[in-house]
Parts: sequence; structure tokens; C-alpha cells
Amino acid sequence: MASERQIDVGGVLIGGGAPVAVQTMTKTETANIPATLDQIRRVAEAGADIVRLAVPRDDDAEALKTIIPQSPIPIIADIHFNHTLAIKAIENGAACVRLNPGNIGGPDKVAEVIAKANAHGTPMRIGVNSGSLPKHLRDLEYSNPVEALVTAAVEFVELMERLDFTNFKVSMKSTSVPNTIASNRLLSERIPYPLHLGVTEAGTKYTGSLKSAVGLGALLADGIGDTIRISLSTFHAEEEVKVAWEILKALKLRERGPVLIACPTCGRLQFDMDSVVIEIEQRLEAYEDPIEVSVLGCAVNGIGEARHADFGITGAKDAGMIFSKGEPLKKVPTDRLVDELFAEIDRYYAAGKTVVRDDAAAAEAAAWLSENEDATAMTPERLAQLELEANEAAGGGDAVLQIDEQASPVAGRRFTRA
Ligand code: SF4
Repeated sequence: MASERQIDVGGVLIGGGAPVAVQTMTKTETANIPATLDQIRRVAEAGADIVRLAVPRDDDAEALKTIIPQSPIPIIADIHFNHTLAIKAIENGAACVRLNPGNIGGPDKVAEVIAKANAHGTPMRIGVNSGSLPKHLRDLEYSNPVEALVTAAVEFVELMERLDFTNFKVSMKSTSVPNTIASNRLLSERIPYPLHLGVTEAGTKYTGSLKSAVGLGALLADGIGDTIRISLSTFHAEEEVKVAWEILKALKLRERGPVLIACPTCGRLQFDMDSVVIEIEQRLEAYEDPIEVSVLGCAVNGIGEARHADFGITGAKDAGMIFSKGEPLKKVPTDRLVDELFAEIDRYYAAGKTVVRDDAAAAEAAAWLSENEDATAMTPERLAQLELEANEAAGGGDAVLQIDEQASPVAGRRFTRA
């Protein structure tokens, strides 16, 4: 269930239907101000809405005074064990403080921090971690780790409410993807507060991205989660941000920059598509619009499958074709495909987002396509045509055709048609 409550972290709204916010954490020593600011700027450029900084020492809390005014995005102070650092971070202007009420020195110290947060209007992130659950939940953790996490989170929420504080979001972190999914599903049913999602210590860029995509993707697809952080073992925090955006873009929860679609290639490939896709991906980073660009390794299936793409290319041995919305634009030599694709994209923007067509070039491309596509391939257009012909053979009219799977031209394919 989506969260009902909303908080404001330095101008970024979290929860209550606001767009899912992307956050990350700097990997620098916070007191190293130039290095920290440099990393903050890089993650902001990559699309981070918010950034968290570790504040384990006085120097780090002090550095916030210099960093916060220069940061392009709101700063969350990450505090463990020392409640005076949380108080200093609030005094020094942190937009939010993350702490685990279970490791900050007892209820009195939690109350002191909350009083300070209330006085400054500073929201908090109440974090529960599978590695540091309260002692009284250890047995439950053994028998039911999901219930243990949720119980700890609910106990902390009740503590906040007893302190008359509701300006917070909650996170439950686990290294287990199934436990992350199950616990957040359960918690979202029990509390109205915004949820921060993440799979903790997810791993390297490859495994961590996949674990996060599976865990967070399952929750986000159900409308659970208001802000996300991808935890990757890399010093390049902007990589976490890029992965977070890919997850949100894949679920169509937010848009940012172009969407690249590329076929997986197969034995029909006749040009160097690996390097072409990488080059296109890199050059697309210069564009902010969410245009869709498709790369097909060959024209065996025609270009109908890329009908939704704003622009696309398909290639063969010596020549390729640029198309837009499933219609041929021009034929070009393979080694010019990428440059010509971007020339067409730039022309589109120069014309006020209008595709500029040259009829003669489009006709030449269409002729090339008909020579190169496979006349027996089951494209969506051919399937529709075959169904239409079968319908007419069965008497036509408005009657809905009931496909006979055995007699169907698509019999034997992996999917079935309703
Ligand atoms: S578009 Fe062509 S090269 Fe790419 S996977 Fe399909 S058949 Fe293979």
C-alpha cells in the first residue's frame, strides 16, 4: 500500500504520492570538504534528488556548515551511536537526519534528538537494520526474521508517536531480497509513513544492481516505496544513482533522459552492434528528453517491433537504415549509421520535435528494407494480416475470430493467444 503521509526533505517531497525520490550516499570522508562536494555535484548531475553523508566524528558534523550551503541537493546526515552528532547535524542545517533509535543510547537520548528535530522542523529517517535489531527481538529474528524487522520498525514508530513526532520516514534494511520484499509489504500495511527502500550491502555493480532491481522493483511495482537507494560496492556513488534511475524508468515511475532499446543480437547479426550500442548509449547521455531509440541487429522481423521508438536503426552487412516510429527515413552505409542517426535526432529537435522526412530517401530505405527483411518472419503486421485472412475465410463480418491454435500460423510458438 502506498504511504499516506508526506515529509519534506529540503524541498524534496517524500511519500503521499510524490514521485519516488532517488538518493545515494557519498563515499568520501565528509570532513574532506572539497572531495565531498565534488562527489555531491557528480551524484546530483547523475540525478540524485537527495544525498546522505556519514557523520561519525565532530569534524564531519562541523563540515556540514560549509557543505550544506554549497550543495545543489538536500543533505541527510547519517548518524550512528552518538546522539550529540545528530543534534549538531540538525543545528548545522541538515535537511534530514537518519538514525537507528535502537543504537543511539536509550530513550532519553532519542527524545533529546527528537526535541531538537521538532524545534528545527527537521524530518528524520528512522532506520532498522537486520544486523542490529533490539535484543528482545533476537529470538523472533531466528524464527521469523521478517516479523522481527517489522516489529522493530513498528516499535520505533510508536516511540516517535509517543514523543509527538510524525515528521519521519522509515527504512528496514536487510541483505536478503525476499526478506526486504516481505517486510516492506507487511510494514506498508501497518503504518502510514513514507518508506525508504534499499537492499543493504547488495554487492558489486553487477550483482548489487540485479538484487536491488529484483527487490525494489517488486515493491515499487506494487506502489510500495517513496524513496530508494541502491547500495553498490563502488566508490563512484553516481553509479548507484544511474541504477536507481534505470529501475524507476523501467517501471515507468519517472522519466529521465532517453530510453535505449536494443535487441540481444543473434546469429543473424551482420554488423558490429556491440560497439554501436555502446556509442549510442554514450552519445544519448547528452540529451535530456525521454526519447526512445531502438537498435535492431537486422531487419529479419521488419521494424514493426520498434514502432513505438522515436528513432531507430537496423543494419545489414554494408548498409543500414534509420527509421522513426516504424517508418523508414533513410538508408546509409553501416559505418555512418550512428552519425546519421544523431543527425536525424538533432534535425528533429531543430524542427521543434518534428521528424523531417525526405520522400526520395525514405522510398530508397523502404526498398532496401523489403529486400532485407525475411518474408516468412512472423512480424506483428503479418500476424494481423494472417488473422484477417483467416477471419475472412471463416465468413468475415464482425464476429470475433476464435483462433484454432493447431491451425494457427503461430502454432508452436512459445506464447499462446487469447
Ligand atoms: S533483430 Fe535480428 S539480430 Fe537482433 S535478435 Fe532479432 S533476429 Fe537477431
